[in-house]
Amino acid sequence: MNLPRFILTPADLRQETVRLTGPDARHAHVLRLQVGDEVRVCDGQGGEWGARITAVSKQAVELSRPTPLPVEVEPALQVTLYQSPARGDKLELIIQKGTELGLARLVPMETAHSQVHFGSRLPKLKRWQEIARQAARQCGRTRVPEIAAPISFAAAVAEAKQADLAIIPFESAAAGDSWKKQLGQKTNVRTVSLYIGPEGGFAESEIELARQAGITVVSLGPRILRTETAGLTVIALALFQWGDLGG
Ligand code: SAH
Repeated sequence: MNLPRFILTPADLRQETVRLTGPDARHAHVLRLQVGDEVRVCDGQGGEWGARITAVSKQAVELSRPTPLPVEVEPALQVTLYQSPARGDKLELIIQKGTELGLARLVPMETAHSQVHFGSRLPKLKRWQEIARQAARQCGRTRVPEIAAPISFAAAVAEAKQADLAIIPFESAAAGDSWKKQLGQKTNVRTVSLYIGPEGGFAESEIELARQAGITVVSLGPRILRTETAGLTVIALALFQWGDLGG
């Protein structure tokens, strides 16, 4: 919503009639705002409301009682998870919970040590997309995450440069290569790609290929997480660090 935006004070917003005055009134004139037009007003402390113009004079613009704007539910950070197959319905769990956390896109990925293969499970794509849709509805999202068709590890790695940051958690990474140490200072991240291996882990050769492609190899800590735990954890870490998870 690209409505003209005015920053008032909490005291201004408590008035019986909320008015734009001084420079704000002049700005409203410059924008040629008329009675009936919609504007956004902020209290300068993070609160935002919508209001309509009810009267315009040279000195002031009067507004209707401001009403709270709907909260933005979609994170600005675009997270893509390249997830290796997992037994049973674990991928479904990742899709459902990942959607709640704010995942933008999930790409099932075949790796060297995958014990489960997607070949016979292609018909499941529709079901996975439906799980994402239901989860989005349930958690109040306005955008359904995309569930892509499965691709190979090599193809997934080739996509890494499309993101501002690509990260591959590897349980054998040195403790010095922890997420905190490697990524703690990174700023201006708008798109992030995350690569999670299967229960059998990534092959050393895969980690090497990823490194060459500029993907950051990180440890998530001293415990080995199951593939579905690792997938959901990195979605949460990324959205906490560069997105809106945690408020
Ligand atoms: N088979 C391996 C574990 C694989 S865990 C073993 O037993 O050693 C599945 C995936 O989760 C891994 O490929 C990795 O991407 C991620 N993962 C799990 N625990 C991790 C940790 N402590 N640090 C980094 N990545 C981890």
